[in-house]
Amino acid sequence: MAVRPKVVVVGAGAFGGWTALTLQQQGANVTLLDAWGPGHARSSSGGDTRIIRATYGPRRIYTRMAARALHLWREHQAAWGHGCLETTGALWMSGADNRFGQESANALRDEGMPVEVLPAAEAADRWPQINFSGITSVVFEPDAGVLSARRACGAVVDRFVADGGTCRMAPVAPPRRLDVVTLADGTTLDADAIVYACGPWLGSLFPGVIGPRITATRQVVHYFGTPAGDASFVSPHLPVWLELGAAVMYGFPADAQRGFKIADDTSGPPIDPTTDPRVITPDDIDPVREYLAHRFPRLADAPWLSGEVCQYEATPDSDFIIDTHPDSSKVWIVGGGSGHGFKMGPAIGELMADAVLGDTAPDPAFSLHRFAGGHAAQPKWSA
Ligand SMILES: Cc1cc2nc3c(=O)[nH]c(=O)nc-3n(C[C@H](O)[C@H](O)[C@H](O)COP(=O)(O)OP(=O)(O)OC[C@H]3O[C@@H](n4cnc5c(N)ncnc54)[C@H](O)[C@@H]3O)c2cc1C
Repeated sequence: MAVRPKVVVVGAGAFGGWTALTLQQQGANVTLLDAWGPGHARSSSGGDTRIIRATYGPRRIYTRMAARALHLWREHQAAWGHGCLETTGALWMSGADNRFGQESANALRDEGMPVEVLPAAEAADRWPQINFSGITSVVFEPDAGVLSARRACGAVVDRFVADGGTCRMAPVAPPRRLDVVTLADGTTLDADAIVYACGPWLGSLFPGVIGPRITATRQVVHYFGTPAGDASFVSPHLPVWLELGAAVMYGFPADAQRGFKIADDTSGPPIDPTTDPRVITPDDIDPVREYLAHRFPRLADAPWLSGEVCQYEATPDSDFIIDTHPDSSKVWIVGGGSGHGFKMGPAIGELMADAVLGDTAPDPAFSLHRFAGGHAAQPKWSA
């Protein structure tokens, strides 16, 4: 590597933006390219909010990564002087099977992070706006919270540019040559290292190496209106919450701009992230309203205010992909956030900078080799 290696990062979402910023902070000369811009409406990092939590059941690699990411989000937030992180706590609710909660609580304690395991009756006293019927396991992670998604992507790129980085709006063509980046207009950029952080577009950019290993699945989020003057659905009275049941449902405390956000984490059908019309129908809304009426009875008649169609860029095992291209050690592929990648942005940036500049190999859990010869599907941990 040159003294000041030239790196091109393609994709300015949560993964690419943080990778570009961290590489630059560690001395690289970085150019960041994106077809549309950081956190745009078709990217997986678009929209208003994401959950940050370190509750990952037995998947301690992610508990550790989330703990590191939380530390870095706080550090950057202090440096930026404005907030993209609001600490609300996160409440995990589940029925008869409490293994996820127990394993998460053990992992959080081992990482030195605060956690509370509560009897359902105590939780019902503390959060009376929630109907805890059928819930037997409640775990509360006080340090968890809400990240501003598109705003954080913009803040990362603003910092990158303010510190001297180059960011260009430029679509990149599927690479026919691996030693350069080829723009859609045919011009090429050379670099010592190239990082493709193209989210749900990675499969079409690398049809052989990635292809169906990353699927863009249709995910709908909804915003409902809370009663006027009612603070019980707003932080700090309501934290972020998730329920592990037949489906995984999750939601955010209401905010003044959008309302009470709720979504079903179940993977939707595959979509094309560029051309999908992103239309929401009553078939999307009705089941969510039914759930809302059960779990948050005072919102049974809440008006549906708006919704958004986003996509997970899902790998078959929900683990990230962070690896070099099999035919070139200077080409990196990073993605497969699988519905839980956003929070990890700063930790991914750090990991990528170590890998690209320092030759530190990422954990084999993220490698492309795991797909060789098939794989066992694993439980999914989104949000
Ligand atoms: C509804 C929903 C809820 C979620 N909830 C959470 C949550 O609560 N917590 C959490 O941690 N995560 C969550 N996630 C997951 C998380 O948001 C994603 O994993 C993460 O944002 C992915 O970031 P990315 O940078 O890999 O992809 P993207 O954000 O899609 O960025 C990829 C970028 O690459 C650019 N690009 C692609 N192809 C090209 C090209 N050829 N040329 C130039 N540029 C190109 C695109 O324009 C895009 O900006 C959620 C995702 C969704 C959709």
